[in-house]
Amino acid sequence: MSFAVDVITLFPEAVADYARTSILGRAAAEGHWRLRTLDPRSWTADVHRTVDDTPYGGGAGMVMRPEPIVDLVESVPDLARPVLALTPAGRPFTQADARRLAAGTGLTLLCGRYEGIDQRAVDLVANEEVSVGDFVLAGGELAALCVMEAVVRLVPGVLGNEDSLEEESFGAGLLEYPHYTRPATYRGRDVPAVLRSGDHAAIAAWRRAQSLARTRDRRPDLLARRGGLSATERELLDRHRLDDPAPGE
Ligand code: SAM
Repeated sequence: MSFAVDVITLFPEAVADYARTSILGRAAAEGHWRLRTLDPRSWTADVHRTVDDTPYGGGAGMVMRPEPIVDLVESVPDLARPVLALTPAGRPFTQADARRLAAGTGLTLLCGRYEGIDQRAVDLVANEEVSVGDFVLAGGELAALCVMEAVVRLVPGVLGNEDSLEEESFGAGLLEYPHYTRPATYRGRDVPAVLRSGDHAAIAAWRRAQSLARTRDRRPDLLARRGGLSATERELLDRHRLDDPAPGE
């Protein structure tokens, strides 16, 4: 059985169109995963198919009503699990989440619109509330696509070259080293000589040093989470002249 992704959205085409492209589209055609979109409007009972209403307590905007979402989730027997609600107020979604979810059988992504979804619906149907970053999108669709792509590309068979997953950013709690391709010199900038040396041990050491230095300089929070730099790693950075820039440099 292929990996199942259900997306609950008021804009099914936006999600389906993107999923038809590139790696995701090819992997679906090959049967590695499948996407189903579910529109809460189809679970409304009134003639106007109303999915939103004004907020209790006042304030700007509209709120997605709970009934269509809860009815949808309760009436689709084979809905993929777990159910993740997308919200800027959620826990940050990480690569570790992507790995965990890719090891399962599927997931459902619940997209909000307007000011968000009535919290009772979220509490009743969602197993997790996740955010894709500290910014506010107009709707959950782009956030759902981010999560979907991050997870599905880790599903076995989807990428083809699973080796490339080993070293990429966040794999070992570090950012990835920089990449280069031809030409060897471009606008006066040379590819680092070590990458053209054919010395695999030296290349691996250079990449490791770049990865550590990038993480230290750009994402000290990630470095702190893995306990900082070891003595060997400091020595590796010194050897590659990537020691900590002096304050103010
Ligand atoms: N009033 C909400 C707030 O301030 O937290 C923002 C609602 S936003 C305009 C509408 C929908 O976009 C949300 O319900 C959510 O599904 C989605 N969304 C916006 N930003 C997001 C983010 N950073 N991560 C995940 N979902 C997001």
